[in-house]
Amino acid sequence: MIHFSKASNQNVEDELAHQKTLSSGTYNLDSVIGQLDLDFRRKCYICEDKVKSIRIEHFRPQCLGINEKFDWFNIFNACEHCNAIKSDDFKQLMDCTKDFPEQHISYEIEPLNPLGKQIILTQLEGSNLHVDTINLLNSVYKGTNKRKKIQAEVIVEDILNELNYFEDLVKDYLLEPDADDLDDIKYEVNNASKFTAFKRWLIKNNTEYSGVITPLFIN
Ligand SMILES: [Zn+2]
Repeated sequence: MIHFSKASNQNVEDELAHQKTLSSGTYNLDSVIGQLDLDFRRKCYICEDKVKSIRIEHFRPQCLGINEKFDWFNIFNACEHCNAIKSDDFKQLMDCTKDFPEQHISYEIEPLNPLGKQIILTQLEGSNLHVDTINLLNSVYKGTNKRKKIQAEVIVEDILNELNYFEDLVKDYLLEPDADDLDDIKYEVNNASKFTAFKRWLIKNNTEYSGVITPLFIN
């Protein structure tokens, strides 16, 4: 989970305000979906995969009331897997449009763990992270039932592939700096790429990489 800037969009906010006054009003609007796609860089804000099956996600559950349901700043972009796991079960979450989650949680992956590929998320010392954030991320990356575990394994496999590609790119660049590789690395560590938090932590955890690559992080 990384930071996304959510744009103020008067047209979208006006349309939602109008829908709120209707007895069968909906937030499921083309304008909402289009702006979410731009703001969240076509990604799920929870797992950070590119969204193949879009779900309009209410950060604070819409069951809390009509204001939550139609508040543009409460509407996020998620995938079907994460939207279903979050449901109304995780209420104490860090808001990634206001804060920088990857500065509060370290991300690591153990591909050779005897129990299977493991994602290790750790709250950083002194962080005021809301408690449910790591619980939600663990549920998303581990799965909560048989079907969700299989979906989670596919996501973790994809994370490993992305990290392997990214680390090879960084090694090549450090061995022989090249403008094309630099452009590719800049893309990979910025928020439009898949699983950006994992890539940034791969850099932060390696002193050989961090001095050169960390300055390329832009939110
Ligand atoms: Zn997701």
